[in-house]
Amino acid sequence: TAKRDGKNTVRFYNESLQDMTKQRFQMIQYLKESILKNELFLNYQKQFDKDKNVVGVEALVRWNHPTLGLVSPAEFIPLAEESGIIKEIGAFVLESATSELLLWKSDRIKKEWRISVNVSPLQFKESSFVDTINKLITSKNLDPSKLRIELTEGVLIENKEKAIDKIRDLKNFGISTSIDDFGTGYSNLSYLKNLQIDELKIDQSFVFGLGQNSSDRAIVNSIIMLGEEFNFEVIAEGVETIEQFEILKELGCNYFQGYLLARPCKAEEL
Ligand code: C2E
Ligand code: MG
Ligand code: MG
Ligand code: MG
Repeated sequence: TAKRDGKNTVRFYNESLQDMTKQRFQMIQYLKESILKNELFLNYQKQFDKDKNVVGVEALVRWNHPTLGLVSPAEFIPLAEESGIIKEIGAFVLESATSELLLWKSDRIKKEWRISVNVSPLQFKESSFVDTINKLITSKNLDPSKLRIELTEGVLIENKEKAIDKIRDLKNFGISTSIDDFGTGYSNLSYLKNLQIDELKIDQSFVFGLGQNSSDRAIVNSIIMLGEEFNFEVIAEGVETIEQFEILKELGCNYFQGYLLARPCKAEEL
């Protein structure tokens, strides 16, 4: 009957919802243990200039769980954000990346490279954020210009006044900042006026269409011109083909990252 169908539907819905909640809860539990159990590590993806010289790397966190296997950050970072564990994960990432920089100080080639670190909104919003970074740099005796912080548009707009202050404090200390996934977050560009950021990172969704899609070309071109006007470096992410690389260079993009040039890899493989 209709009634029974209705009831079954509701029950089924509840069960699957419960399953989902259980699964999420389980994932969050696992995630909480991941740091102590040494399941997190960093991959690094090289970033290049026009002549294919390496200028730096982006640190990308990886989670290798004994039963779940390798879990993508696209999957666990949102969970970590919601549950607050991102603060610990973020601290781990910063500690790891700066330890890597310390190793590079005595490497003839790598000592010139910068490391870009992705920072989540919750992590950036912590009042101790700038202080924590300063302490890491100072205690390891690192050149602060070798660290770059990648932020997303959302966090810069949501908490505008505080973001302006924090980015200025980072800059005064010698640490540069980048806006990741630029162009996907917000349409009102006025927020850029007061931000002392150093780099715009063109989102890969715009890079993918280069060569086929004229609106992607227009968007990429606008971002590059904006960068020139504001004196920001511009880096393109997700460069997979020679054609995309050539078009980006032709449009005046300065820096490049993507599978065409290098895939993310372990530190030892760099
Ligand atoms: P993102 O910061 O925009 O990083 C770029 C993503 O694109 C990375 O995925 C990278 O592996 C991938 N990628 C690089 N080149 C190419 C390419 O040519 N083609 C394609 N299709 N993809 C490419 P990944 O490592 O899975 O990271 C996904 C996202 O997870 C990152 O996006 C970032 O938002 C977040 N994430 C990664 N590591 C961290 C971290 O340490 N902290 C925080 N808060 N977020 C992180
Ligand atoms: Mg990034
Ligand atoms: Mg990005
Ligand atoms: Mg992206």
